[in-house]
Order: sequence, then structure tokens, then C-alpha cells
Amino acid sequence: MAARGQSVGGMRGVAAVPSYVVMQPTTLCNLDCAYCYLPLRAADRRMPVPVAEAVAASVNPWASAGRFSVVWHGGEPLAAGREHLAALMAPFAPEVEHHVQTNATLIDDAWCDFFQEHGVRVSVSVDGPRERNDDRVTRAGQPAYDRIMRGVSVLRRRGLPFSALAVVSRPRAGLAAELYDYFLDLGCDVLGINIEETEGVNTRGNAHDQADVTAFWAELVAAWRREPRIHLREIEWSLRYAAAVLDGVADDLLPRQLDPIPTIGHDGSVTVLSPELAGFTDPRYGDFSSGNVLESPLAEILAGAERTPWVGEFLAGVEACRDTCPYFGFCGGGHAANRYFELGRFDGTETEHCRNSKIRLLEGVLEHARDHQ
Ligand code: SF4
Repeated sequence: MAARGQSVGGMRGVAAVPSYVVMQPTTLCNLDCAYCYLPLRAADRRMPVPVAEAVAASVNPWASAGRFSVVWHGGEPLAAGREHLAALMAPFAPEVEHHVQTNATLIDDAWCDFFQEHGVRVSVSVDGPRERNDDRVTRAGQPAYDRIMRGVSVLRRRGLPFSALAVVSRPRAGLAAELYDYFLDLGCDVLGINIEETEGVNTRGNAHDQADVTAFWAELVAAWRREPRIHLREIEWSLRYAAAVLDGVADDLLPRQLDPIPTIGHDGSVTVLSPELAGFTDPRYGDFSSGNVLESPLAEILAGAERTPWVGEFLAGVEACRDTCPYFGFCGGGHAANRYFELGRFDGTETEHCRNSKIRLLEGVLEHARDHQ
């Protein structure tokens, strides 16, 4: 950690070129998870092909200059159907990497053929064993776990590698080892853990006992170190940061500028930095979008993104974090949507989200290190 007041470089302003874009092929989701933040998930608003063509016109030159990804994220992206998703992918150059974040319930052999044909990397959302998936239900309110597992079993039978993303609503000791063992058995090669966030239409609280959250992360490090067969996103980040601190090079870890992570809504609107803000409006900030690719090139929209009123306020918040938070060198200033949905503005600093997912994470890793000296 950097001492309070010690200046950490990096994360100054928003970069004009992203490393990936998030695309919303449809707003629709066939599930209705209790913690979902998406406002329009019951409506099937599909992205027209001209939106993808407009995005590809900016993305293709970026992809020819270096690695570049398009992440298809919904709603449930597979609910757009194979034919439509193929038409949306068609304008992108072959070197663009495609990813889908899916609830897996629609995956069958035909989808696996599609993934192979288009080189799509798959990440499935599953929260652990059956009893940890109570929040995941169909539109009729029925448990979704068996459907999720049916899709995952097709991926496994077909030998397609996949990542997993798990939402943890009540982090505490005892849960992390159980989750890690579950995902070892599931066969994913990458695992991300998201502590549930209060954002979008999900207004459930996310304040937890701090010792519980630290114990959760410490136990997860211990489980991973016992059998490090899965790339465990959060633990690998924090260990890399701890090693950089020890080597005196922590300041090199943060990117020089924030990745704009543009989310392209179904209608072509561009929301930078936080996909969770897409589709919302606020009397002070308007609809949060920085432009629409049907009206201006994506490259041009991103070059002017810092002029979006809420983005300027968020950058002031990042500077406040830099000046006041000893965790800034690890965190880089947190996510815009968490500030907005928790604090009602963008220039605040600590949120429950950053306590759960940044501060306690790093403390959990340090607690594990202390216990295993
Ligand atoms: S978001 Fe939170 S953890 Fe990150 S730098 Fe700001 S106050 Fe610190």
C-alpha cells in the first residue's frame, strides 16, 4: 500500500483507445435473478446490425494494432439467437476476440458449434453449488440451477474451455473453501468472484461485517494456494500487487489512464467506464451516455468522453481517492457505478463495494500471508 498522501501515478484521465468493448445484442434475459442490476431485462430490444457495423469501423483498426476483445453481454446474449449474433459479429475483423458472458441455460450442441466456428470464449455465471444459487430463477420463479448445469455439461462434453463468474451475496469464512472446491470440480479454467453490489435496479444492501469479508478472502487465498489449478482473478491481482510492493515497482502496475470500457447499448448509445450505468437516467446527469455510434464514430466519442459531465465528476473522485486512500495503488479509484448507486454522486470515495472487493480483499491476502509466515 502507499502511505496516505504519497502520490501514486497512473489512472489520470480516460484513455482514447479501450482494450475491449462491451456490446448488448439484446436487453432480454430469460432468467430473473434477484440481484440483477439490469432495468430492461424483460424486454427484447435487439441491437440492429448497423450498430455493430459502426462499432467495427473503429474497433477493426485497433485490433490490427494489438489484442482487442468484444464482450457480448446482455441481458442474456444468447437470447439474441445464433443468426442475429452471427450477423452482429460479421463486421468485425478476424483478429478481434469474441467473448460471451452467459447464464449458460441456452447452451446446446448448436451453440457449441457456433462458439467453435466463431472462436468465441465463454464465461458462465454460476454462484456455486445448487444451494448457493437460490437467487437465480427463471421468469416463472423456478430455480435455474439445473438449466445452468445442463448448459455447462454440454460445454464440458464438447471439451470447450470456459471461465466462471460467481456472485457472493454474504461473504464469510467457511464459504470460500466450499466455493473454490466446487469450481475445481466444475472444470472452469478462470474464476472471478463478485461480491454482490448495490447498483442499478438491485437495491439490496451490501454492507457486511468487515471481519467476515476479510476472512472470506483470506480463506479463498488459502484454498487457491492448496491447489492453484484455476486462474483466480481477484487473488492473482492482489498477489501481483503485493509482489510489486515488495519489489518497489507497485507504481508501475496501474495503467497510466483509465480504460474507457465502452458499453454499446442495443440502440448504439455509448456509456463509458461502467456498463451498469447504461439504460439509466438521472435529472443531474441525463442518460450517462457519451454519444451514439449511429451518429458519431466510436473513436470520436471516446476521444471526447472526458467532456461528459458525470465523467468529469468521476475523475475528481479518482483524484480524491488518490489523495486520501492508502489502497489507491491497488484499486485505482474504484468503479463509477458503485459511487453513483451507493453515494448518489461520482466524486465521493469509499463505498461498500470498494470495502468488500478491494480493501478487505487486500487485507485478506495480507492476513493469509501473516498466518503462514
Ligand atoms: S475506491 Fe475505495 S479502495 Fe479504491 S481508492 Fe477509492 S476509497 Fe480507496
